Amino acid sequence: CGIIGYAGHRPAVPLIIEGLRRLEYRGYDSAGVAFVQNRELVTVRAEGKLSALDEKLASCPNTVATTGMGHTRWATHGIPVERNAHPHKANDGGLAIVHNGIIENYAELKAELAAKGYVFHSETDTEVLANLISEGRKHNATMLDAFAWALRQAHGAYAVALTTPEEPEVLYAARLSAPLILGVGTGENFVASDIPAFLPYTRDVVFLEDGELVRIDANSWKVMRIADLAPVEKAVNHIQWD
Ligand code: GLU
Repeated sequence: CGIIGYAGHRPAVPLIIEGLRRLEYRGYDSAGVAFVQNRELVTVRAEGKLSALDEKLASCPNTVATTGMGHTRWATHGIPVERNAHPHKANDGGLAIVHNGIIENYAELKAELAAKGYVFHSETDTEVLANLISEGRKHNATMLDAFAWALRQAHGAYAVALTTPEEPEVLYAARLSAPLILGVGTGENFVASDIPAFLPYTRDVVFLEDGELVRIDANSWKVMRIADLAPVEKAVNHIQWD
């Protein structure tokens, strides 16, 4: 039930785990991270507490990724086991997403994708969205276009973040009826379900609204409308509380 995404200059994975710890109060049954290493998309996921994910990461070759995202899941579709934990990859490994919320029309979308030959390794609504974006990538010029194209067909509630080996230093995120906040740092930017996730690094935040999508990398951020990718002017707010 928590998302954190990071694009910056620090090692991403420890920062993401730390961020997920500060979102633990939201409750969760499993957790995972995704990052791009040597042009390949890596996901590590574990059932249970963050300590279980930590253990798995310890046996991973140490990553130098400075961009990545993490998720704590509160299962709605599919039991709380590793195969249902996020991030979920598309079949072709071209992208991974983390998602909070529910895609209400996932069954229809799943049937359409299955008819096109997509296979599903989980029972989640989220994996359907991952493959829908992948399908969209076939007839859209960029991953950004494909992401927005897929989101326009997804009904329900979501905060979702996306990473792709096509753009290893970029993260995309979007929201509809679920919380998502942008944290603006110096040489680093964040997205998260709640401010405490990135508070040690920045107090400058942008509150995203329903129907908005954001692209971040280490040195820039841009908010757009999901509907047409038109840029949206946003105010940066300085958080005073600790
Ligand atoms: N509906 C998704 C799932 O069951 C996301 C749940 C969540 O918000 O953590 O995997």
